Amino acid sequence: MAVAAAVMATAALALAPGAPPRAAGRRPAVLVTSPSATTSTVPAPAVRWAGAVEHLFFHPLVIRPELAFTRDRLAQGFRNFFLTAGEFRAVLAQLDRNGWTLVDIHRAVAGEVRVPPGRRPFVLSVDDVNYYDYSRTRGLGWRLVLDPAGDVKVESRDDRGVRLTDDDIVPIIDEFVSRHPQFSADGAKGVLAVTAYQGLLGERLDDRRSQDRAGSVERATAMARRLQATGWVFADHSYGHIDFARAPLAVARRDIERWQRVAEPIVGPTDLFVYPFGAAPPPSSPLVAMLRDHGYTVICDIDVVPRFIRAQGVVIMSRRHIDGLALRQEARPLAPFFDVASVEDRAARSAGLPRAASAGRVDRRP
Ligand SMILES: [Zn+2]
Repeated sequence: MAVAAAVMATAALALAPGAPPRAAGRRPAVLVTSPSATTSTVPAPAVRWAGAVEHLFFHPLVIRPELAFTRDRLAQGFRNFFLTAGEFRAVLAQLDRNGWTLVDIHRAVAGEVRVPPGRRPFVLSVDDVNYYDYSRTRGLGWRLVLDPAGDVKVESRDDRGVRLTDDDIVPIIDEFVSRHPQFSADGAKGVLAVTAYQGLLGERLDDRRSQDRAGSVERATAMARRLQATGWVFADHSYGHIDFARAPLAVARRDIERWQRVAEPIVGPTDLFVYPFGAAPPPSSPLVAMLRDHGYTVICDIDVVPRFIRAQGVVIMSRRHIDGLALRQEARPLAPFFDVASVEDRAARSAGLPRAASAGRVDRRP
């Protein structure tokens, strides 16, 4: 599986300080506003962090477990690769209590991380912030929207109607950081990794005949600007969620250029790339050189330890997957972050089952 492959890749460290990235200009200008602190506490000055930087990644959250966790094959994928909004809130509270602080991925790669005294840094990322058709009807969000105050909310559309809530990662983090300033260093929030084959951020951009296409582009662009102004950064997660461990070079190149045509006008240029499925080619692969030549100098894969691999002018940063599988299988490695037993919402996870039973095949990670 992907983790094993990543572990093997670690053993084959191809360290090459190498040539500077050719397209260093792709890194976007980041406009970060300070988190709007609603408490009167003034955080102590941040101190330099010299150790490893952890990276935890998630998917958009399950808002209505009884629609996601049913008996079909898709349900098993939701159980394996997703958390509920309640579980994510529990994770966040424990991360904060255990002294973790969000940091910017570019600072982590540059070795310029600072955290409040006594706290430990981690990068957070969210994959597939697209609100795909398959998940919209299964109790996940429909799209991100700005409320009248300009805050980010997630829209749900189901048998209860259309409504805006805070039940997804961006609104939950935004709100949490505003109440807990020590939880974010330098205004950092997280990395949002997006594909483009079914639009962006829940706005459908693929149907050129759609009468509302201009509106969709406008809303997605406004949302992207708002997210970037509040500490979020974007990553390319490939156009079509393709497998970079298997894709021929020409196929991968076409996919990347398509993402840059469709997504880049909306989310802006990025030097971050996140492998779909966590499926990574070897660091010495020509695909890595192709990514570098297209401006991606920070690439993320999956591993169960924090590490950087420097190869071919890029940095490959590992991430830990935080999902249903991790709650069941990684209690011990995750103990410094949170206690899996108190996070897992077993009742929610069996909400869509007629009886206690949840066998089924394990699908690939989205
Ligand atoms: Zn994905």
